[in-house]
Amino acid sequence: MKATIALLPGDGIGPEIVTQARRVLEKVAQNYGHTFEMPEFPIGGNAIDSFGNPLPDQTLEACRKADAILLGAVGGPKWDDPSAKTRPEAGLLRIRKELGLFANLRPTKTWDELLDASPLKREIVGGTDILFVRELTGGIYFGESGRQAHQSGEQAWNTMIYSTGEIERVVRVAADAARKRRGKLTSVDKANVLEVSRLWRQVAQRVVSTEYPDLQYNVVLVDAMAMHLISKPREFDVVVTGNLFGDILTDEASMLPGSLGLLPSASIGSSGPGLFEPIHGSAPDIAGQNLANPLATILAAAMLLRQSLNLTAEADSIEAVVGSVLKDGHRTKDIAGSGSWIGTREMGDLIVNRLS
Ligand code: NAD
Repeated sequence: MKATIALLPGDGIGPEIVTQARRVLEKVAQNYGHTFEMPEFPIGGNAIDSFGNPLPDQTLEACRKADAILLGAVGGPKWDDPSAKTRPEAGLLRIRKELGLFANLRPTKTWDELLDASPLKREIVGGTDILFVRELTGGIYFGESGRQAHQSGEQAWNTMIYSTGEIERVVRVAADAARKRRGKLTSVDKANVLEVSRLWRQVAQRVVSTEYPDLQYNVVLVDAMAMHLISKPREFDVVVTGNLFGDILTDEASMLPGSLGLLPSASIGSSGPGLFEPIHGSAPDIAGQNLANPLATILAAAMLLRQSLNLTAEADSIEAVVGSVLKDGHRTKDIAGSGSWIGTREMGDLIVNRLS
C-alpha cells in the first residue's frame, strides 16, 4: 500500500514523540512492504510564531489531501497570554471543524503490568477496557454564546445545541464500534434536566433499536456515570456522549490506567482523513530532555493504521510489541515509580528493534 500520513509534531514534547512514532511506522512499512510518505507540517504555537496562525493554510491543505494525520501536541506557557489574538488550541479546534471530525474515539484500557500506578484499587480497575466516543464538533462548545450588561455587573451564556443528524451519526460510529467489541453500548446524557439531552436520548434509542437491535444498550445520567467510572469501570464497553460530558468523563477515565503517557485517541468524520494523537498535552515541563513517554503516540499510530488504512495485522503488531516491552519491565520515567527507567529515544529503539 502507498499512503500519505501528514505528521503534525506541534509544540513541547510533540516533536520528540512524533519522531519515535515515525520510526515505528517506517519499520512497519518495511516489514509489510508498504510505502508511507510522511511529510511534516506546523501547527500550534510554533505555527503562530512562524505564520501568525496556529493552523497555516498549507498545513490544512496538506491534511485534507493526506490519508491520515498524526499529531503530537500543541501549546505551552509561551503562548498562554489570555489577551493574545490567537492561541495554539485554536488550531486544533479549527482542524477538527474543517475536516468534519465529529467523533472522538478514546480507548481507555488498563495494562496489568501497570495496575499499581492507578489511583484505584487493583481489584476495581483491573480488566477495564472502555471505548469512549465523544461528539466533537457540536454541543455547548460550538453553540451561541455572549455577554450582556446585568444589574449585578454582567451576564454570560453558552448554548448547548444538538440536531437529530449530529446525534445519529455519532451514535452510529459508537454502535459500529460496539459490534466489533463486546456488543455493549451505553449512552450518557442529562435527560432529567436538559431538553437537548432528551432529544439525544430519543434519537439514540431510535437508532439503536432500529439499526442495532443486536446490541446490549443502556442509558446513564452523566452524574451517575462519573461515579460508576471509579466504582465499576469494568462494566462498560462502548460509551457515547456529547462534547461537554465527553470532555470531562474522558479526562476522569484517563486516570484509570495510571499514566497519561499510554493513551491514544482518534478523531474521525464520515469521510476523509482521521486525526490520531496522544491524549496528553505538550508537557512543556519535560520538553527536550528525552523524558517523554512516546508510547501513547506510538499507540495512536497503531490506531491510525487500523482505523484509517485498514491495516489490522500491522496495528496488532505494534500493540503486541508495546505490551511485550511493558511486560518485560521497560519503563519511561512517568511510569517507572521508584524503579529504573529509559528515555524517549531508547523506548523508541526497543519498539523498533522488537518489530524486527
Ligand atoms: P500535559 O498533558 O501536557 O502534562 C501534564 C503532566 O503530565 C505534566 O507533568 C507532564 O510532564 C506529564 N506528561 C504528559 N505527557 C507525558 C508523556 N508523554 N510522558 C511523560 N510525561 C507526560 O498537560 P498540561 O501540563 O495541563 O498542559 C501543557 C500544555 O499542553 C498546555 O499548553 C495545554 O494547553 C496543552 N495541551 C494540549 C493538548 C493537545 O495538544 N491535544 C491536550 C492537553 C493540553
